[in-house]
Amino acid sequence: MRYKHFFTKTLRAAPKDETARGAQYLMRAGYVYKELAGVYDYLPLGLRVIENIKQIVREELDKIGSQELLMSTLQNPEPWQKTDRWDIEKMDIWFRTTLAAGGELGLAPTHEEPLTNLMKTYISSYKDLPAYPYQFQTKFRNELRAKSGIMRTREFIMKDLYSFSLDRESHQKFYDEVAEAYKKIYIRLGIGDDTYQTFASGGVFCKYSHEFQTITEVGEDLIWFNEDKSVVLNDEVLNDEVLKDLGVKREELKSAKAAEVGNIFTLGTKYSGAIGLEYDTKDGKKEPVFMGSYGIGVSRLMGVIAEKMCDDKGLVWPEHLAPYKYYLMGIGDEGMQKAEELYAGHEETVLIDDRAEVHPGEKFADADLLGMPYRVVISENSLKEDSVEVTDRKTGETKLIKTADFAKELA
Ligand code: ATP
Ligand code: MG
Repeated sequence: MRYKHFFTKTLRAAPKDETARGAQYLMRAGYVYKELAGVYDYLPLGLRVIENIKQIVREELDKIGSQELLMSTLQNPEPWQKTDRWDIEKMDIWFRTTLAAGGELGLAPTHEEPLTNLMKTYISSYKDLPAYPYQFQTKFRNELRAKSGIMRTREFIMKDLYSFSLDRESHQKFYDEVAEAYKKIYIRLGIGDDTYQTFASGGVFCKYSHEFQTITEVGEDLIWFNEDKSVVLNDEVLNDEVLKDLGVKREELKSAKAAEVGNIFTLGTKYSGAIGLEYDTKDGKKEPVFMGSYGIGVSRLMGVIAEKMCDDKGLVWPEHLAPYKYYLMGIGDEGMQKAEELYAGHEETVLIDDRAEVHPGEKFADADLLGMPYRVVISENSLKEDSVEVTDRKTGETKLIKTADFAKELA
């Protein structure tokens, strides 16, 4: 990518009401644009991060037999009426719209109802089970308060997976597989070390659900953990009965602020029962399908990672998420010429700062703000050594690498 092709510019200031540091950087560096409170656009750089996150999630979910689809954002009220969730009193986060021809539609806050209804077309026998569809989709929620940039918004990108199983036993097996896949996903996203599977409140069909909580000062949640962090629970379930159940004592627990980056939930037959998603068993009986739902906050993750991986100069993306791996710049005519030679053919991994009129100092500041993992500088000094200066954005460590070797690394 050429810097000159960006239509975005780095900004000196972020909107005043944006207090979280990562959120400020995302706006100043041109990753996101704030339309209004809780509503954001993903600009070209930000979109590349979103796509990188999605790809990691997609690979791990495909490995456990899930299948991607894309459902509509406009939703029919009918299945929601069957589960009694169309009622604003019961679901206060609805955004609604009206049809020109008359009648109301919902703007997707989640997809249990429409997907359960859709599955009635495809599931009728035990032979049709299991099914594990998932999607990356824009959800709309009329949240009372938008918070911390893209961490809590009114329109956001969620990965939602749903499982349709024969019975509780086969459901549980998949549920555990999803938990393992999630752990791999958070490790690959670079937040494995401080993301915990926590006990959270359950429903009629399960004592507990599980959340995946990443420790961060800007998180809205409070989690509690024991010494070796083998038991981690949400504040909402911290009571005597649960403590006894999990075999921990109140005095041994410490707390930390965290952000929910995913959750897994046993739905049982709550939705299938209400909507009439049944299958014929081997002995010709009818049973409701046993369901689960599994969310990951894709856009929230980008916000959480920006918050956790930044310093006083800007963003610090891990390699697998960065829009580009290298920020390449030459100083002086000869340096810029050499940079062009190295850049040729590597448009996907290299961002070349080809602005002739911009002072190197400003380019250094932009490189730090944008946060690509490596800054590569070709200066008069490095040219004398037939080398390029490679600086690790995270550690600040600079190495002189022979130009030919760096060209090989790029290739
Ligand atoms: P929260 O408790 O944070 O409101 P939730 O329980 O409503 O989350 P789900 O409905 O299960 O969450 O959504 C799945 C995931 O989507 C969450 O784990 C979270 O990461 C993300 N998410 C939920 N609401 C928002 C939002 N308003 N903005 C951005 N991401 C969100
Ligand atoms: Mg919510």
